Amino acid sequence: MDYELDDMQKASVEMAHDFAVNELRTIAEEYDRKGEFPKDILVPKAAEAELTSGEIPEEYGGGGLDHLTSAMVTEELFWGDAGLAVSLLANNLAITPIVIAGTDEQKEKWLPRLGEGKLASFCLTEPGAGSDVASIKTTAKDMGDHYIINGQKCFITNGGISDVCVVFANADQEMGYRGQAAFIVGGDYEGVSMGKVEDKMGIRASHTAEVLFDNVRVPKEDILGGVGQAFYISMKTFDKTRPGIAAGSVGIARAAFEEALAYSKERIQFGEPIIKNQAISFMLSDMLIKIEAGRELYRKACWLADEGKTSSVMSSAAKAYCAEMCMEVTTQALQVLGGYGFMKDYPLEKYMRDAKVMSIYEGTNEVQRLVLAANLNRMKELRQF
Ligand SMILES: Cc1cc2nc3c(=O)[nH]c(=O)nc-3n(C[C@H](O)[C@H](O)[C@H](O)COP(=O)(O)OP(=O)(O)OC[C@H]3O[C@@H](n4cnc5c(N)ncnc54)[C@H](O)[C@@H]3O)c2cc1C
Repeated sequence: MDYELDDMQKASVEMAHDFAVNELRTIAEEYDRKGEFPKDILVPKAAEAELTSGEIPEEYGGGGLDHLTSAMVTEELFWGDAGLAVSLLANNLAITPIVIAGTDEQKEKWLPRLGEGKLASFCLTEPGAGSDVASIKTTAKDMGDHYIINGQKCFITNGGISDVCVVFANADQEMGYRGQAAFIVGGDYEGVSMGKVEDKMGIRASHTAEVLFDNVRVPKEDILGGVGQAFYISMKTFDKTRPGIAAGSVGIARAAFEEALAYSKERIQFGEPIIKNQAISFMLSDMLIKIEAGRELYRKACWLADEGKTSSVMSSAAKAYCAEMCMEVTTQALQVLGGYGFMKDYPLEKYMRDAKVMSIYEGTNEVQRLVLAANLNRMKELRQF
Protein backbone atom coordinates (compact mmCIF):
# COMPACT_ATOMS: atom_id res chain seq x y z
CA MET A 1 0.00 0.00 0.00
CA ASP A 2 1.30 3.40 -0.95
CA TYR A 3 -0.34 6.42 0.67
CA GLU A 4 2.24 8.88 -0.64
CA LEU A 5 0.40 11.77 -2.27
CA ASP A 6 1.64 13.52 -5.40
CA ASP A 7 1.84 17.32 -5.57
CA MET A 8 -1.69 17.71 -6.97
CA GLN A 9 -3.18 15.52 -4.24
CA LYS A 10 -1.25 17.36 -1.53
CA ALA A 11 -2.47 20.68 -2.94
CA SER A 12 -6.11 19.49 -2.70
CA VAL A 13 -5.68 18.48 0.95
CA GLU A 14 -3.83 21.71 1.81
CA MET A 15 -6.51 23.77 0.12
CA ALA A 16 -9.22 21.94 2.11
CA HIS A 17 -7.29 22.64 5.31
CA ASP A 18 -7.06 26.36 4.48
CA PHE A 19 -10.78 26.39 3.66
CA ALA A 20 -11.51 24.73 7.01
CA VAL A 21 -9.43 27.34 8.86
CA ASN A 22 -10.66 30.42 7.01
CA GLU A 23 -14.24 29.59 6.00
CA LEU A 24 -15.53 26.89 8.38
CA ARG A 25 -13.98 27.48 11.79
CA THR A 26 -14.74 31.20 11.58
CA ILE A 27 -18.53 30.62 11.36
CA ALA A 28 -18.93 27.18 12.96
CA GLU A 29 -20.04 28.31 16.40
CA GLU A 30 -22.54 30.85 15.04
CA TYR A 31 -24.33 28.40 12.74
CA ASP A 32 -24.21 25.57 15.27
CA ARG A 33 -26.06 27.89 17.66
CA LYS A 34 -28.57 28.99 15.00
CA GLY A 35 -29.05 25.43 13.70
CA GLU A 36 -28.85 26.69 10.13
CA PHE A 37 -26.79 25.94 7.02
CA PRO A 38 -25.54 29.23 5.47
CA LYS A 39 -26.07 28.00 1.92
CA ASP A 40 -25.85 31.36 0.17
CA ILE A 41 -22.64 32.36 1.96
CA LEU A 42 -20.77 29.08 1.90
CA VAL A 43 -21.74 27.13 -1.21
CA PRO A 44 -20.36 29.62 -3.79
CA LYS A 45 -17.02 29.70 -1.93
CA ALA A 46 -16.92 25.90 -1.65
CA ALA A 47 -17.81 25.50 -5.32
CA GLU A 48 -15.03 27.93 -6.28
CA ALA A 49 -12.63 25.72 -4.33
CA GLU A 50 -14.09 22.61 -6.10
CA LEU A 51 -15.17 21.17 -2.75
CA THR A 52 -18.74 20.39 -3.85
CA SER A 53 -17.58 18.67 -7.04
CA GLY A 54 -14.34 16.98 -6.04
CA GLU A 55 -15.56 13.47 -6.87
CA ILE A 56 -17.03 14.38 -10.27
CA PRO A 57 -14.78 13.02 -13.04
CA GLU A 58 -12.74 15.74 -14.77
CA GLU A 59 -14.43 15.14 -18.15
CA TYR A 60 -17.71 16.28 -16.54
CA GLY A 61 -16.24 19.41 -15.02
CA GLY A 62 -15.26 18.10 -11.57
CA GLY A 63 -12.10 17.68 -9.58
CA GLY A 64 -11.66 14.02 -10.50
CA LEU A 65 -10.30 13.21 -7.05
CA ASP A 66 -9.29 9.66 -6.23
CA HIS A 67 -10.89 8.09 -3.14
CA LEU A 68 -7.88 8.60 -0.87
CA THR A 69 -7.50 12.30 -1.65
CA SER A 70 -11.25 12.85 -1.37
CA ALA A 71 -11.28 11.19 2.07
CA MET A 72 -8.32 13.27 3.23
CA VAL A 73 -10.13 16.41 2.04
CA THR A 74 -13.14 15.20 4.04
CA GLU A 75 -10.98 14.76 7.16
CA GLU A 76 -9.84 18.38 6.86
CA LEU A 77 -13.35 19.78 6.35
CA PHE A 78 -14.77 17.85 9.31
CA TRP A 79 -11.80 19.05 11.37
CA GLY A 80 -13.01 22.55 10.44
CA ASP A 81 -16.67 21.92 11.27
CA ALA A 82 -18.63 18.69 10.90
CA GLY A 83 -22.02 20.36 10.36
CA LEU A 84 -20.96 22.66 7.53
CA ALA A 85 -18.85 19.85 6.01
CA VAL A 86 -21.80 17.42 5.98
CA SER A 87 -23.98 19.73 3.90
CA LEU A 88 -21.14 20.52 1.48
CA LEU A 89 -20.07 16.90 1.10
CA ALA A 90 -23.61 15.47 0.78
CA ASN A 91 -22.95 16.18 -2.90
CA ASN A 92 -20.54 13.21 -2.96
CA LEU A 93 -23.30 10.90 -1.74
CA ALA A 94 -25.54 11.94 -4.64
CA ILE A 95 -22.74 12.15 -7.22
CA THR A 96 -21.57 8.56 -6.53
CA PRO A 97 -24.69 6.72 -7.80
CA ILE A 98 -24.67 8.85 -10.95
CA VAL A 99 -20.99 8.03 -11.52
CA ILE A 100 -21.57 4.32 -10.78
CA ALA A 101 -24.77 3.76 -12.74
CA GLY A 102 -25.38 6.79 -14.97
CA THR A 103 -25.26 6.66 -18.75
CA ASP A 104 -22.94 9.07 -20.61
CA GLU A 105 -26.01 11.20 -21.41
CA GLN A 106 -27.09 11.32 -17.75
CA LYS A 107 -23.58 12.24 -16.62
CA GLU A 108 -23.37 14.99 -19.24
CA LYS A 109 -26.79 16.33 -18.25
CA TRP A 110 -26.45 16.29 -14.45
CA LEU A 111 -22.84 16.25 -13.27
CA PRO A 112 -21.53 19.55 -14.73
CA ARG A 113 -24.21 21.55 -12.92
CA LEU A 114 -22.98 20.14 -9.59
CA GLY A 115 -19.63 21.70 -10.36
CA GLU A 116 -21.31 25.10 -10.71
CA GLY A 117 -22.28 25.68 -7.12
CA LYS A 118 -25.36 23.49 -7.04
CA LEU A 119 -26.20 21.16 -4.18
CA ALA A 120 -27.39 17.58 -4.43
CA SER A 121 -29.23 15.26 -2.07
CA PHE A 122 -29.52 11.49 -1.70
CA CYS A 123 -33.15 10.66 -0.94
CA LEU A 124 -33.40 7.12 0.38
CA THR A 125 -34.58 7.09 4.03
CA GLU A 126 -38.30 7.18 4.80
CA PRO A 127 -40.24 7.36 8.09
CA GLY A 128 -40.88 3.60 7.93
CA ALA A 129 -37.64 2.58 6.17
CA GLY A 130 -34.28 3.45 7.74
CA SER A 131 -31.90 0.52 8.15
CA ASP A 132 -34.36 -1.63 6.20
CA VAL A 133 -33.95 0.20 2.89
CA ALA A 134 -35.65 -2.63 1.04
CA SER A 135 -38.99 -1.59 2.56
CA ILE A 136 -39.30 1.91 1.07
CA LYS A 137 -42.86 2.95 0.20
CA THR A 138 -42.25 5.81 -2.26
CA THR A 139 -43.75 4.77 -5.58
CA ALA A 140 -42.70 5.34 -9.18
CA LYS A 141 -45.52 4.65 -11.64
CA ASP A 142 -44.58 3.86 -15.23
CA MET A 143 -46.53 6.18 -17.53
CA GLY A 144 -44.87 5.23 -20.82
CA ASP A 145 -42.39 8.01 -21.54
CA HIS A 146 -42.14 9.15 -17.91
CA TYR A 147 -42.59 8.05 -14.30
CA ILE A 148 -44.78 9.66 -11.63
CA ILE A 149 -43.17 9.67 -8.18
CA ASN A 150 -45.13 9.93 -4.94
CA GLY A 151 -43.78 9.59 -1.42
CA GLN A 152 -42.11 11.04 1.65
CA LYS A 153 -38.40 10.97 2.42
CA CYS A 154 -37.04 11.96 5.83
CA PHE A 155 -33.73 12.99 7.46
CA ILE A 156 -32.39 14.09 4.06
CA THR A 157 -29.21 16.16 4.14
CA ASN A 158 -29.86 19.25 2.00
CA GLY A 159 -33.46 18.03 1.60
CA GLY A 160 -35.55 20.68 -0.14
CA ILE A 161 -32.58 23.00 -0.76
CA SER A 162 -30.79 20.91 -3.37
CA ASP A 163 -30.93 21.38 -7.11
CA VAL A 164 -30.48 17.69 -7.89
CA CYS A 165 -31.98 14.75 -5.96
CA VAL A 166 -31.21 11.08 -6.40
CA VAL A 167 -34.48 9.46 -5.35
CA PHE A 168 -35.11 5.80 -4.53
CA ALA A 169 -38.61 4.54 -5.23
CA ASN A 170 -40.58 1.39 -5.75
CA ALA A 171 -41.51 0.86 -9.40
CA ASP A 172 -42.97 -2.60 -8.83
CA GLN A 173 -44.49 -3.22 -5.38
CA GLU A 174 -44.86 -6.96 -5.99
CA MET A 175 -41.13 -7.41 -6.51
CA GLY A 176 -39.94 -6.00 -3.14
CA TYR A 177 -36.41 -4.57 -3.34
CA ARG A 178 -36.05 -6.08 -6.82
CA GLY A 179 -38.74 -3.65 -7.94
CA GLN A 180 -36.88 -0.57 -6.74
CA ALA A 181 -35.46 2.07 -9.06
CA ALA A 182 -33.33 5.18 -8.58
CA PHE A 183 -34.13 8.42 -10.40
CA ILE A 184 -32.36 11.70 -10.94
CA VAL A 185 -34.87 14.43 -10.14
CA GLY A 186 -34.50 18.21 -10.42
CA GLY A 187 -35.05 19.95 -7.08
CA ASP A 188 -37.20 22.51 -8.92
CA TYR A 189 -39.57 19.97 -10.52
CA GLU A 190 -43.26 20.57 -9.85
CA GLY A 191 -44.41 18.53 -6.85
CA VAL A 192 -41.03 18.42 -5.05
CA SER A 193 -41.22 20.26 -1.71
CA MET A 194 -39.54 20.53 1.66
CA GLY A 195 -41.32 19.09 4.70
CA LYS A 196 -40.25 19.29 8.34
CA VAL A 197 -36.80 20.78 8.94
CA GLU A 198 -35.04 18.86 11.72
CA ASP A 199 -33.73 20.50 14.90
CA LYS A 200 -30.72 18.33 15.69
CA MET A 201 -28.45 17.48 18.63
CA GLY A 202 -25.25 17.78 16.57
CA ILE A 203 -23.99 18.78 13.11
CA ARG A 204 -26.47 21.59 13.62
CA ALA A 205 -24.98 23.72 10.86
CA SER A 206 -26.04 21.12 8.28
CA HIS A 207 -29.52 21.16 6.76
CA THR A 208 -31.64 18.05 7.36
CA ALA A 209 -35.27 17.88 6.24
CA GLU A 210 -38.11 15.84 4.85
CA VAL A 211 -38.60 15.90 1.09
CA LEU A 212 -42.09 15.34 -0.26
CA PHE A 213 -42.85 14.06 -3.77
CA ASP A 214 -46.39 14.76 -4.95
CA ASN A 215 -47.08 13.47 -8.46
CA VAL A 216 -43.59 14.40 -9.65
CA ARG A 217 -43.12 13.75 -13.37
CA VAL A 218 -39.68 12.35 -14.19
CA PRO A 219 -38.65 11.64 -17.80
CA LYS A 220 -37.83 8.01 -18.42
CA GLU A 221 -34.30 8.85 -19.51
CA ASP A 222 -33.52 9.88 -15.91
CA ILE A 223 -33.89 6.43 -14.37
CA LEU A 224 -30.51 5.19 -13.12
CA GLY A 225 -29.70 1.71 -14.40
CA GLY A 226 -33.30 0.50 -14.75
CA VAL A 227 -35.89 -1.11 -12.48
CA GLY A 228 -34.30 -3.64 -10.14
CA GLN A 229 -30.95 -1.87 -9.96
CA ALA A 230 -31.61 0.60 -7.13
CA PHE A 231 -30.78 -1.64 -4.17
CA TYR A 232 -27.51 -2.69 -5.81
CA ILE A 233 -26.72 0.97 -6.65
CA SER A 234 -27.33 2.13 -3.06
CA MET A 235 -25.14 -0.65 -1.60
CA LYS A 236 -22.33 0.08 -4.12
CA THR A 237 -22.65 3.77 -3.27
CA PHE A 238 -22.22 3.12 0.46
CA ASP A 239 -19.18 0.92 -0.16
CA LYS A 240 -17.58 3.98 -1.75
CA THR A 241 -18.85 6.67 0.62
CA ARG A 242 -18.49 4.99 4.03
CA PRO A 243 -14.70 5.50 4.11
CA GLY A 244 -15.56 9.22 3.82
CA ILE A 245 -17.65 8.99 7.00
CA ALA A 246 -14.68 7.27 8.64
CA ALA A 247 -12.40 10.10 7.49
CA GLY A 248 -14.84 12.71 8.79
CA SER A 249 -14.85 10.93 12.15
CA VAL A 250 -11.06 11.14 12.24
CA GLY A 251 -11.35 14.87 11.48
CA ILE A 252 -13.70 15.54 14.42
CA ALA A 253 -11.59 13.39 16.78
CA ARG A 254 -8.41 15.16 15.68
CA ALA A 255 -9.94 18.56 16.37
CA ALA A 256 -10.98 17.44 19.87
CA PHE A 257 -7.57 15.90 20.57
CA GLU A 258 -5.73 19.09 19.55
CA GLU A 259 -7.91 21.24 21.84
CA ALA A 260 -7.40 18.85 24.77
CA LEU A 261 -3.65 18.65 24.19
CA ALA A 262 -3.22 22.43 24.12
CA TYR A 263 -5.42 22.86 27.21
CA SER A 264 -3.56 20.17 29.16
CA LYS A 265 -0.29 22.07 28.71
CA GLU A 266 -1.77 25.37 29.92
CA ARG A 267 -4.11 24.36 32.73
CA ILE A 268 -2.30 24.50 36.07
CA GLN A 269 -3.60 22.46 39.00
CA PHE A 270 -1.61 21.47 42.09
CA GLY A 271 1.15 23.79 40.81
CA GLU A 272 1.81 22.12 37.45
CA PRO A 273 0.22 21.65 34.02
CA ILE A 274 -2.36 18.85 34.17
CA ILE A 275 -0.51 16.97 31.37
CA LYS A 276 2.15 16.15 33.98
CA ASN A 277 -0.40 13.75 35.49
CA GLN A 278 -0.12 10.31 33.96
CA ALA A 279 -3.92 10.01 34.05
CA ILE A 280 -4.13 12.91 31.58
CA SER A 281 -1.10 12.11 29.41
CA PHE A 282 -2.22 8.46 29.09
CA MET A 283 -5.70 9.62 28.06
CA LEU A 284 -4.13 11.82 25.39
CA SER A 285 -1.87 8.94 24.33
CA ASP A 286 -4.88 6.65 23.95
CA MET A 287 -6.61 9.29 21.82
CA LEU A 288 -3.58 9.53 19.55
CA ILE A 289 -3.43 5.73 19.12
CA LYS A 290 -7.12 5.56 18.21
CA ILE A 291 -7.00 8.47 15.77
CA GLU A 292 -3.97 7.06 13.95
CA ALA A 293 -5.52 3.56 13.86
CA GLY A 294 -8.74 5.02 12.43
CA ARG A 295 -6.80 6.96 9.83
CA GLU A 296 -5.04 3.78 8.68
CA LEU A 297 -8.37 1.98 8.36
CA TYR A 298 -9.97 4.63 6.16
CA ARG A 299 -6.81 4.94 4.07
CA LYS A 300 -6.77 1.20 3.46
CA ALA A 301 -10.44 1.21 2.44
CA CYS A 302 -9.72 4.09 0.04
CA TRP A 303 -6.58 2.46 -1.31
CA LEU A 304 -8.60 -0.67 -2.14
CA ALA A 305 -11.22 1.46 -3.92
CA ASP A 306 -8.52 3.30 -5.89
CA GLU A 307 -7.07 -0.07 -6.91
CA GLY A 308 -10.53 -1.01 -8.21
CA LYS A 309 -11.03 -3.46 -5.34
CA THR A 310 -13.77 -1.69 -3.39
CA SER A 311 -14.37 -3.79 -0.32
CA SER A 312 -17.60 -3.83 1.69
CA VAL A 313 -15.64 -5.35 4.59
CA MET A 314 -13.04 -2.60 4.77
CA SER A 315 -15.58 0.19 4.15
CA SER A 316 -17.86 -1.06 6.93
CA ALA A 317 -14.96 -1.82 9.29
CA ALA A 318 -13.49 1.66 8.79
CA LYS A 319 -16.86 3.38 9.21
CA ALA A 320 -17.80 1.41 12.35
CA TYR A 321 -14.42 1.75 14.05
CA CYS A 322 -13.90 5.43 13.26
CA ALA A 323 -17.43 6.45 14.28
CA GLU A 324 -17.02 4.75 17.67
CA MET A 325 -13.47 6.03 18.04
CA CYS A 326 -14.76 9.57 17.37
CA MET A 327 -17.32 9.29 20.18
CA GLU A 328 -14.70 7.90 22.58
CA VAL A 329 -12.05 10.49 21.74
CA THR A 330 -14.40 13.47 21.91
CA THR A 331 -15.70 12.21 25.28
CA GLN A 332 -12.18 11.79 26.66
CA ALA A 333 -11.08 15.16 25.25
CA LEU A 334 -13.96 16.87 27.05
CA GLN A 335 -12.88 15.10 30.24
CA VAL A 336 -9.41 16.63 29.91
CA LEU A 337 -11.00 20.09 30.09
CA GLY A 338 -13.07 19.20 33.16
CA GLY A 339 -15.91 21.66 33.82
CA TYR A 340 -14.67 24.00 31.10
CA GLY A 341 -15.17 21.22 28.56
CA PHE A 342 -18.84 21.08 29.53
CA MET A 343 -19.34 24.79 28.84
CA LYS A 344 -20.11 26.27 25.44
CA ASP A 345 -17.09 28.61 25.75
CA TYR A 346 -15.01 25.73 24.41
CA PRO A 347 -15.85 23.59 21.33
CA LEU A 348 -15.49 20.24 23.12
CA GLU A 349 -19.19 19.81 23.90
CA LYS A 350 -19.94 20.53 20.22
CA TYR A 351 -17.42 17.94 19.04
CA MET A 352 -19.09 15.38 21.31
CA ARG A 353 -22.54 16.29 19.97
CA ASP A 354 -21.25 16.17 16.37
CA ALA A 355 -19.59 12.78 16.92
CA LYS A 356 -22.79 10.89 17.74
CA VAL A 357 -24.30 10.94 14.27
CA MET A 358 -21.25 9.30 12.72
CA SER A 359 -22.46 5.91 14.00
CA ILE A 360 -26.01 6.54 12.75
CA TYR A 361 -26.07 7.82 9.16
CA GLU A 362 -24.99 5.98 6.00
CA GLY A 363 -25.96 2.83 7.86
CA THR A 364 -25.88 2.55 11.63
CA ASN A 365 -22.93 0.77 13.21
CA GLU A 366 -25.20 -2.20 13.81
CA VAL A 367 -25.83 -2.30 10.05
CA GLN A 368 -22.05 -2.19 9.45
CA ARG A 369 -21.75 -5.24 11.69
CA LEU A 370 -24.52 -6.96 9.70
CA VAL A 371 -22.41 -6.38 6.57
CA LEU A 372 -19.34 -7.78 8.33
CA ALA A 373 -21.28 -10.73 9.75
CA ALA A 374 -22.58 -11.64 6.29
CA ASN A 375 -19.00 -11.68 5.04
CA LEU A 376 -17.82 -13.76 8.01
CA ASN A 377 -19.89 -16.65 6.68
CA ARG A 378 -17.73 -16.70 3.55
CA MET A 379 -14.46 -16.03 5.38
CA LYS A 380 -11.96 -18.65 6.55
CA GLU A 381 -8.86 -16.66 7.44
CA LEU A 382 -7.64 -13.10 7.74
CA ARG A 383 -4.19 -13.34 6.20
CA GLN A 384 -2.79 -10.19 4.62
CA PHE A 385 -2.01 -11.56 1.17
C1 LIG B 1 -28.27 13.98 10.52
C2 LIG B 1 -28.74 12.89 9.61
C3 LIG B 1 -28.58 13.03 8.25
C4 LIG B 1 -29.04 12.04 7.37
N1 LIG B 1 -28.92 12.21 6.00
C5 LIG B 1 -29.50 11.30 5.16
C6 LIG B 1 -29.50 11.52 3.75
O1 LIG B 1 -28.93 12.50 3.24
N2 LIG B 1 -30.15 10.63 2.96
C7 LIG B 1 -30.79 9.53 3.46
O2 LIG B 1 -31.36 8.78 2.68
N3 LIG B 1 -30.80 9.29 4.81
C8 LIG B 1 -30.18 10.15 5.67
N4 LIG B 1 -30.19 9.92 7.03
C9 LIG B 1 -30.89 8.75 7.54
C10 LIG B 1 -29.98 7.68 8.12
O3 LIG B 1 -29.29 7.02 7.09
C11 LIG B 1 -30.87 6.75 8.97
O4 LIG B 1 -31.23 7.48 10.13
C12 LIG B 1 -30.17 5.46 9.34
O5 LIG B 1 -29.99 4.65 8.20
C13 LIG B 1 -30.94 4.68 10.41
O6 LIG B 1 -32.28 4.56 10.11
P1 LIG B 1 -33.38 4.93 11.24
O7 LIG B 1 -33.01 6.26 11.77
O8 LIG B 1 -34.72 4.77 10.65
O9 LIG B 1 -33.15 3.86 12.38
P2 LIG B 1 -33.74 2.37 12.43
O10 LIG B 1 -33.45 1.65 11.19
O11 LIG B 1 -35.16 2.44 12.90
O12 LIG B 1 -32.85 1.74 13.59
C14 LIG B 1 -33.10 1.98 14.98
C15 LIG B 1 -32.08 1.15 15.77
O13 LIG B 1 -32.27 -0.23 15.51
C16 LIG B 1 -31.07 -0.82 15.01
N5 LIG B 1 -31.41 -1.84 14.03
C17 LIG B 1 -32.30 -1.77 13.00
N6 LIG B 1 -32.32 -2.92 12.33
C18 LIG B 1 -31.43 -3.75 12.92
C19 LIG B 1 -30.98 -5.08 12.68
N7 LIG B 1 -31.47 -5.82 11.68
N8 LIG B 1 -30.03 -5.60 13.50
C20 LIG B 1 -29.52 -4.87 14.51
N9 LIG B 1 -29.90 -3.61 14.80
C21 LIG B 1 -30.85 -3.05 14.01
C22 LIG B 1 -30.31 0.36 14.39
O14 LIG B 1 -28.91 0.08 14.29
C23 LIG B 1 -30.63 1.46 15.36
O15 LIG B 1 -29.80 1.37 16.48
C24 LIG B 1 -29.68 10.87 7.90
C25 LIG B 1 -29.81 10.73 9.29
C26 LIG B 1 -29.35 11.70 10.13
C27 LIG B 1 -29.52 11.52 11.62
